[in-house]
Amino acid sequence: MKFGGTSMAGTERIRRVAGIVRAQAARGDQVAVVVSAMAGETDRLVNFCREANPLYDPAEYDVVVASGEQVTSGLLALTLQALGCKARSWLGWQLPIRTIEAHAKARIETVDAPELIASMEAGEIAVIPGFQGVAEDGRVTTLGRGGSDTSAVAVAAAVKADRCDIYTDVDGVYTTDPRIVAKAKKQKAVTYEEMLELASVGAKVLQTRSVGLAMKEGVRVQVLSSFLGEDAPPADDLPGTLIVSEEEMEELVEKGEMERQLVTGIAHDKNEAKIILTRVPDRPGAVANIFEPLAAASINVDMIIQNVGRDKGETDVTFTVPQSDLARAQALLEDRRGEIGFNRIITDSKIAKISVVGVGMKSHAGVASTMFRALSDRGINIQAISTSEIKISVMIDEDETELAVRVLHTAYGLDAVS
Ligand code: ADP
Ligand code: ASP
Ligand code: MG
Repeated sequence: MKFGGTSMAGTERIRRVAGIVRAQAARGDQVAVVVSAMAGETDRLVNFCREANPLYDPAEYDVVVASGEQVTSGLLALTLQALGCKARSWLGWQLPIRTIEAHAKARIETVDAPELIASMEAGEIAVIPGFQGVAEDGRVTTLGRGGSDTSAVAVAAAVKADRCDIYTDVDGVYTTDPRIVAKAKKQKAVTYEEMLELASVGAKVLQTRSVGLAMKEGVRVQVLSSFLGEDAPPADDLPGTLIVSEEEMEELVEKGEMERQLVTGIAHDKNEAKIILTRVPDRPGAVANIFEPLAAASINVDMIIQNVGRDKGETDVTFTVPQSDLARAQALLEDRRGEIGFNRIITDSKIAKISVVGVGMKSHAGVASTMFRALSDRGINIQAISTSEIKISVMIDEDETELAVRVLHTAYGLDAVS
């Protein structure tokens, strides 16, 4: 069981979480619980680091930001004990959850489970802080924002759990963010592949890496709400959204429990920025000169467009980077202006990426044209397009994000009938 930040926000909420955990244990299950820091706490800790030293050392940043989860894991263990349950916390370095040394964005390598399993078999509820681990050198690491989902899936895989229930503040995965589109529909099931794609283009309900890990390890994941009353159906009845394999999805469709759909979800991402380099020489090696220094600096480039060459053997190159890397990317490119040979560098962080995702696209034409027509009917200009086998993304003005998501939700027939 994993509980996110809003579920853990304060002792009152934690008491509710403890009630849910106790009820699951009372069904005769052995339970491990992974918790997030209280909502807003990680942001607060990140700000402290920035105030202390804008060029903070990631290893010390990890020492600071990992503390939020230490607090909530201890508090949940205490609350469970107050309810008469046997419970104890296991910090990342105690289990340990071993990660690579990349501070602030570490990846889990192994979770040592024998002691954990022994304690669970002895009837103790294990409470584990998400987001944190320990590197080879013994120092604390964190997994990147939203990383508690990945901690939960990794623990589930290590103890060979029957299921990994991700409790959050919505009751499942919807066709789009239900906070933006009131008519969004809850999905009974979503395939790993679709969820992976949705998460990677901005549906933050699950951290992308957690979905990749679940897919690789075959962990059965359910997304459900911790905000329902005492009379809510038990998690074992699968009231939330299940992340399933394509075969399982086929079975659900055949049994009539799921409709076959072209588009499964729409996601948006406002965290990218656009860079345009004008009048780049139109010859072999020119784009390599642009992207090599960015790659060397671990800056992830997402959408890329190279315009048709102009007459003088020149072209414009447009691409996106995470907003948090924009200043660094710009400085790197300016430094290499001579070598790359561009004229101007134009940046814009007021853009958004809107993506539609669905495995149905593999075998159906017309998904892209529906998108472009629906956006143009509302006067929304498309600045860039990129596609994968099961996804189409467009870049638009950030101010039009909510409108675009709503319009597309209707265009693909996803609106819930009220
Ligand atoms: P937690 O703190 O529990 O990890 P998050 O805030 O990380 O919760 O993720 C839950 C949020 O994800 C929801 O409140 C919702 O606004 C957002 N969200 C975005 N896209 C979707 C989607 N397709 N379905 C459900 N929730 C979504
Ligand atoms: N507390 C961390 C964050 O806010 C990890 C998580 O909640 O998943 O990013
Ligand atoms: Mg989250």
